[in-house]
Amino acid sequence: MEIKVLEKGDKNMRLLIKGVDTPFVNALRRNALAEVPCMAIDDVVIIENSSVLQDEIVAHRLGLIPLKTDLDGYNLPEECSCKSEFGCNLCRVTLTLDREAKEGTVTVYSGELVSENPNIVPVSDKVPITKLVKGQKLRLEAYARLGKGKNHAKWQPVSTCTYKYLPQIKIDSKNCDACGKCVEICPRKVLEKSEGKIEIRDLPACTLCQDCMDACPKEPSAIEVGWEENAFIFSLESTGVLPPERIMEEAVKILEKQLKELASQIKVRKT
Ligand code: SF4
Ligand code: SF4
Ligand SMILES: [Zn+2]
Repeated sequence: MEIKVLEKGDKNMRLLIKGVDTPFVNALRRNALAEVPCMAIDDVVIIENSSVLQDEIVAHRLGLIPLKTDLDGYNLPEECSCKSEFGCNLCRVTLTLDREAKEGTVTVYSGELVSENPNIVPVSDKVPITKLVKGQKLRLEAYARLGKGKNHAKWQPVSTCTYKYLPQIKIDSKNCDACGKCVEICPRKVLEKSEGKIEIRDLPACTLCQDCMDACPKEPSAIEVGWEENAFIFSLESTGVLPPERIMEEAVKILEKQLKELASQIKVRKT
């Protein structure tokens, strides 16, 4: 297997993975989406809510606020040694909110949640929870825990996680007269005309739409778009709860665990 990092930011990552097949990259994608845990609010005790939103709606909105996650400091409640429905310091984090509109109308934002652990806080301070008019109050205690995206989307650490085949573009220089029609039609600006020749400017951006082939006036087309077997561009965008490389690392670890489990099950059945 060959891996090249094409792009890496605080929240996103793009990899070129060669020498693997579709089920392998799809297993990584599925693990990143559904199996890598992250923190989200799961229980809310409303002490006072005189806002226009019902308690259930406020609780639902709180659940969907992405929280920075410390995977090494917390256990999944089902794996925690406390075995308690209420959780303990190793599987639960308490956040509180106490807000009253003293004057006019105010918006209550995620940044007003006070966490008992400064590392487990909303990714963004600017997620609106509700609005309060003069005299209205919102007081609550919220409990966050680790969970998995397969149980609820609020525990999904990625906003997108996709893969596509690595494109292959061939230009027949004998047939091509550099008319530039393929360059003009390409929605992703993959091609460029330089010194009377068509060149590939940004291959990974190609979506394999084949519009360039259709636009080519030559018969047969002087440009041919296909894809490389067993080579993929894997893109991942974190919601901000975990760094993208940590999500990938965890997805790989989980895949390894799943394969070991499969091997041990096969062994048991054989004996
Ligand atoms: S297949 Fe589509 S995206 Fe790729 S180079 Fe051709 S027009 Fe551009
Ligand atoms: S449209 Fe066809 S002939 Fe024109 S530049 Fe592109 S490949 Fe060459
Ligand atoms: Zn616990």
